[in-house]
Amino acid sequence: MIALGGNAHIRKPRVLLKPASVLGLSIIIALLIALLVAWSVRQASLNRLETTTQAQLARLVMSLDAALARYSYLPVLIAQETEIKAHLQQAPDALSSSQINHYLARTNQLAGTMDIYLMRADGMTIASSNWDKTWSFIGNDFAFRPYFQQAMSGQLGRYYAVGTTSNERGYYFASAVQDEKQNPLGVVVVKISVNTIEQLWQNQSFEFWVTDDDGIIFMASDYQTLFHTLEALSPLRQQAIIDTQRYVGFALKPLANFKRNFLHDNLYRVERQNQHYLMAKHRMEEAGWDVYVLSDWRSITQTLQIALLITLALTGLSGLLLFTFWKYRTQRQCYQQAAMAELETKVAERTQALEQAQTGLIQAAKMAALGQMSSTINHELNNPLGAIRAYADNARQFLERGQISIAQTNLQEIAALTERMATITHQLKAFARKSHGQRERCSLAMAIDSSLVIMQPRFARAGVELQQERLAEAVTVWADLVWLEQILINLFSNALDAIHERADPQIGLKITSLQDQACMEIWDNGTGLDENDMNHLFEPFFTTKQAGHGLGLGLSISQRLAVDMQGSLQAFNRAEGGAVFCLCLPLAPKE
Ligand code: ADP
Repeated sequence: MIALGGNAHIRKPRVLLKPASVLGLSIIIALLIALLVAWSVRQASLNRLETTTQAQLARLVMSLDAALARYSYLPVLIAQETEIKAHLQQAPDALSSSQINHYLARTNQLAGTMDIYLMRADGMTIASSNWDKTWSFIGNDFAFRPYFQQAMSGQLGRYYAVGTTSNERGYYFASAVQDEKQNPLGVVVVKISVNTIEQLWQNQSFEFWVTDDDGIIFMASDYQTLFHTLEALSPLRQQAIIDTQRYVGFALKPLANFKRNFLHDNLYRVERQNQHYLMAKHRMEEAGWDVYVLSDWRSITQTLQIALLITLALTGLSGLLLFTFWKYRTQRQCYQQAAMAELETKVAERTQALEQAQTGLIQAAKMAALGQMSSTINHELNNPLGAIRAYADNARQFLERGQISIAQTNLQEIAALTERMATITHQLKAFARKSHGQRERCSLAMAIDSSLVIMQPRFARAGVELQQERLAEAVTVWADLVWLEQILINLFSNALDAIHERADPQIGLKITSLQDQACMEIWDNGTGLDENDMNHLFEPFFTTKQAGHGLGLGLSISQRLAVDMQGSLQAFNRAEGGAVFCLCLPLAPKE
């Protein structure tokens, strides 16, 4: 029997993921990647924006510093002028007020400042570069201005304010004019325009504010924010500012819709009129200013949006690719499984067909063997039948004569003969029956005896007595009894054919038992095996016998049956002449 279907190793189908779970998993992974990318891109953009903002702030501060530094020396220089001192001391050869005015106007024009003026020690302005203008400072008392007080105390006065007369934003530098004993005679004031500095920084990619000590914006990229405060001022502070007349006429309200959150160092996240900014702050100690630079936060959100879009597109694309690949693989697995199932079915069908064909062949071979033995069987059955008839006739006659005991003897003979006939027909029936190879415990002796019952008439006709070398102990093999008998009958039958023309024919049977096998050697002193035929002996339909005497199926079927029973059948030539066939079968497991 061909063991195909039974042993074929079928790969277990892999557990396939459902499309919904794959899709869900892909979405989760894509979202996680998008989140990670969003976080890193946000961090990177924030870092970049921080660096840019800090750099812009540094540039602005440097520019403001430079602008202030350029003019801080001017009042000091003017205050050193002997004409100015003489004018203040009202020396006899002093220049006139008009000459001083002209001098100040010329210096103001050359230096590019807003105004330069001279105050007496009591705060009264006595000369000014704008002497000829309607808003001339001459005659104004600026003693209340802190820069006057600072200069009078010997320091360089620095102050920011909106001019009370001109209403223009300006920064004031003031230096005292001193006599030989360092006593203040008056103060020279240089006012520079904040406007000019501010304009330099308009139309930049960022916004800026410059605030004074009170947080009041006095320079800004957006004029709307001027004279607003970053924090609400206390009433006390407001009063103080009013007293200095620093911002005359301005309400100094806090910036509307302004919120700031500290990030780290000098950085804030600012919300103003529903817009978000990153704000950096720098303190200009000397000037007493705070400088703020605000960069649009949208650069972060925009970068984030673009990065997210690209990430989502890429993850979507890779997801799509993965999904297509997974679908292709799943489909291929399905096809493979279907093909495998189809193959299995086909193999099962073919195996069944082969089994049927094999059973048919076995049966045909048996029938052929029976056919070969038919004349012998005929003879074996006809002989006792004739004898029975004769015994019956005799018995009837003896009964008629009243010789009952002799009649009884005849009847006993008849019974014995029918018994023998029954044995033969039983064995023939058993031999003829189909078997599908059910292995079981078989007594070797019983199998040999059964086949000999069938073969005995042929042995007798050939005048051969089987030379048996059996083992003392009972040998049990793991085999199909019908198949085993069939093999033995084939081998005995071939041996009988081989010794046909021998004058001293001999056939023998030798049983040996190995570790896990029992072997039966069936030998004869017949024609032996042709060396050329050796390779073909077990091929189906190989025969050297005349037509009508052999089908050439006996050995091929016997070998197949032996192999199917996990045994073997081999052929050799004997040294003494003739052939020997060795049938080995596994021993039955111990009970
Ligand atoms: P068949 O007996 O129908 O020819 P087998 O398959 O039984 O078919 O045998 C094939 C051939 O093997 C025989 O024709 C014969 O030539 C050879 N053969 C088998 N047994 C013997 C034997 N004991 N001695 C010599 N030749 C044998």
